[in-house]
Amino acid sequence: MEVRRGDPPTTADLVVIGGGVLGAATAFYATRAGLRTVVIERRPLLCTLTTPVAAGGFRLQFDNPEETELVRESLTVFEHFSEITGLRGYDLRLQKQGYLFVTTRQDTARRQAERVAEQRAWGVTDVELLTGDEARYRFPYLAPEIISARFRAGDGFLDPKRLTYGYALASSATFVLDTAVTGFTLAAGRLARVETSRGSISTPAAVIAAGPFSGPLARLAGIDPGFTTVRRHRLTMPEVPEVPPDAPFVIDEDNGAHWRPAYQGAYLVFTDPTTPPSEPAWDVPSSSDFVFQLLDPTSEHAVAHACPFWRRVWERGSDHWILQAGQYTYTPDHRPFLGPTPVPGLYLNAGYSGHGIMGSAGGSRRVVDLILGRADPRLNPFRWDRPLTHRPFDVI
Ligand SMILES: Cc1cc2nc3c(=O)[nH]c(=O)nc-3n(C[C@H](O)[C@H](O)[C@H](O)COP(=O)(O)OP(=O)(O)OC[C@H]3O[C@@H](n4cnc5c(N)ncnc54)[C@H](O)[C@@H]3O)c2cc1C
Repeated sequence: MEVRRGDPPTTADLVVIGGGVLGAATAFYATRAGLRTVVIERRPLLCTLTTPVAAGGFRLQFDNPEETELVRESLTVFEHFSEITGLRGYDLRLQKQGYLFVTTRQDTARRQAERVAEQRAWGVTDVELLTGDEARYRFPYLAPEIISARFRAGDGFLDPKRLTYGYALASSATFVLDTAVTGFTLAAGRLARVETSRGSISTPAAVIAAGPFSGPLARLAGIDPGFTTVRRHRLTMPEVPEVPPDAPFVIDEDNGAHWRPAYQGAYLVFTDPTTPPSEPAWDVPSSSDFVFQLLDPTSEHAVAHACPFWRRVWERGSDHWILQAGQYTYTPDHRPFLGPTPVPGLYLNAGYSGHGIMGSAGGSRRVVDLILGRADPRLNPFRWDRPLTHRPFDVI
């Protein structure tokens, strides 16, 4: 990894736009394949926009086999990160403590059973369907009203910032900071140069991995992938003695509230389906209403419904919190766009909604394979021109 704060190189085999987790992962796979790669990052440091706000969760409990495979590949990379990257002893703070989806409702319990059967059919054979009592036996802090749960012990969470820096450190790319991509120049109908605030880079290929700004960047090349960006919050409560440090990621499938251990407390998140899209933003304002929605036990989205100890946290009222916000970047079917665009030489690695950390290795490796002609674009389930069906919001 070479870091520059001055002019970028004037030529490259590949320019990657964005220094978040997906830009860094793309750089890792591209340089490993021998491509002279330049990463352009507008801000003065890597990993300062969406990626550091993520909860760092990864799971194989999905509603479709394609994303399951994408994350399965990432998970193997996370588990063997030091060997694969050559970064001896590198610590991703990987905690395989599981994902636990719980419900108090009969209809959701039926859906859980169907979902587990599907997941097993897709090869996720270690996902468990638990009754309320079985779940409470293993996780005694669950509410007596929980009647069903699905659990996979091999799911878990890691530190997204460490992951990003790990990919970057293990790559031999040149990372040019404090430099914005401002346009693309085409020649004979294909990409010829990437324009930046510090000059042009001649290149046959570029990958847009710019998180919420991927849409505006693509439009500079005359194409519109149709991304929408939506604000999402992460609440950090760094000291909550009630939070069991060995707890899984607990997701209330009835109201969408979820939390996982972090520091001596927890991260709390909730994907509110009523939040309207907003323009891509460099600083995403947070709203305290989010905290009250999650913590006030009388709110329909309270974490206390599934785990009553959160009621004590609310009543005590004295615990510290840190509220941050970032943006999900959505495609119409909430799955990423990976690979070629209608502009020859221009590629996308964006639109992961809430799955960009867990999809980073599998997705970026595929994009690099598509650039190198090692994969058939017609067989790519994440191609730009796939039939797009609008998907309703999932709870997570
Ligand atoms: C609250 C929250 C919780 C989440 N939890 C999880 C989770 O548990 N698990 C999970 O897998 N995912 C999660 N996600 C999603 C995940 O964070 C994103 O999918 C992922 O971080 C996107 O990474 P990125 O590299 O595309 O974007 P970013 O991290 O936003 O990086 C994009 C970079 O591009 C740069 N850039 C933009 N425009 C330009 C330009 N013109 N020139 C140069 N550089 C430019 C930006 O400065 C930025 O550094 C969560 C997201 C949020 C908001």
